[in-house]
Amino acid sequence: MRTLLVTGGAGFIGGNFVLRSLAADEHLRIVNLDLLTYAGNLDTLRPLAGDERHVFVQGDIGDAALVRELFNRYRPAAVVNFAAESHVDRSIDGPAAFVQTNVVGTLNLLQCALDAWRTMAPEEHAVFRFLHVSTDEVYGSLGPTGLFTETTPYAPNSPYSASKAGSDHLVRAFHHTYGLPTLTTNCSNNYGPFQFPEKLIPLMIQNALALKPLPVYGDGQQVRDWLYVLDHVDAINTVLERGLPGEVYNVGGDSERTNLQVVHAICDAVDRRRPDEAFGSRRRLVEHVTDRPGHDRRYAIDCSKLMETLNWKPSVDFETGLERTVDWYLENPEWTRRVIDGSYQGERLGLGEG
Ligand code: NAD
Repeated sequence: MRTLLVTGGAGFIGGNFVLRSLAADEHLRIVNLDLLTYAGNLDTLRPLAGDERHVFVQGDIGDAALVRELFNRYRPAAVVNFAAESHVDRSIDGPAAFVQTNVVGTLNLLQCALDAWRTMAPEEHAVFRFLHVSTDEVYGSLGPTGLFTETTPYAPNSPYSASKAGSDHLVRAFHHTYGLPTLTTNCSNNYGPFQFPEKLIPLMIQNALALKPLPVYGDGQQVRDWLYVLDHVDAINTVLERGLPGEVYNVGGDSERTNLQVVHAICDAVDRRRPDEAFGSRRRLVEHVTDRPGHDRRYAIDCSKLMETLNWKPSVDFETGLERTVDWYLENPEWTRRVIDGSYQGERLGLGEG
């Protein structure tokens, strides 16, 4: 039995990673350390009830005593660090929590991993990996042309991306200074099942279904590259299996879309499934609202290193992935209803007003 210590595995990407990885490998055990913040949700992991290969531990990646105990008890062959505060708008309203989890918490994980790695038997020591899941937002904002590569200088613009950049630098330093076998993935925007409904795609699906206004920040011409979450999960497993220690891999979907294009595509997909003859096209619901302060204009990623050296490629294009995502939200209204627990009711966050 191979054991992974996965952090943040009750969140969007971590939850998809845990479900898919355990389904694909009967000899895998996952110890899932998650604080269950507003973004963490055990409903996502319901299919694993009774499965002894999934050990859920509620706790903080910054809790040194707890993380050390997990290393001692379970002797993981690798760490996959998803745990983070992840929403840019929330980071504008309250950056401190982002530094605490994303920087200080990751530092604690690295320190505990290093201490454990140093005392491992030679065969465990040789294969141990620390994989840190990060974002393309650390690279800043692009003009109309160009792509982020693994050597693009860091220029984070939001408190979220600054805190992720800080954690990436610490991961790099633990490899260069202490030799810890780290891997870093910097991925573009994900979408798919189990995403907390404050993020663009699930929020717009919910609102479009309910014929509520669709708040598009500014002119809606901000460009993001979109990747279906299960393709990101496969990329992470690829890097974990075959990535070179100390390396960084960009992950992307080669699917640049403006936010307005994404919202229009969602309107059309919902119209096809739940037509409202009296109302007409849901594109009418789009309302342009005040832009996010410091909103990055364009992200686009060159992931040829991952494709060429490790032979990964996305399995679905944006249109197919979006159709699947809309279907999933239509088929799982209970999941959405339960995660909106009163702390988030779809209100606007991140105007930086206090
Ligand atoms: P998410 O907000 O859905 O999930 C984060 C999870 O981490 C939650 O389950 C939460 O409870 C947990 N968590 C938060 N603080 C914690 C702490 N101190 N200790 C333990 N657990 C804690 O985030 P996500 O969208 O799934 O993103 C996962 C990772 O991937 C993040 O590191 C994020 O920066 C990165 N990433 C996300 C995207 C994206 O589009 N969502 C893209 C690229 C990279």
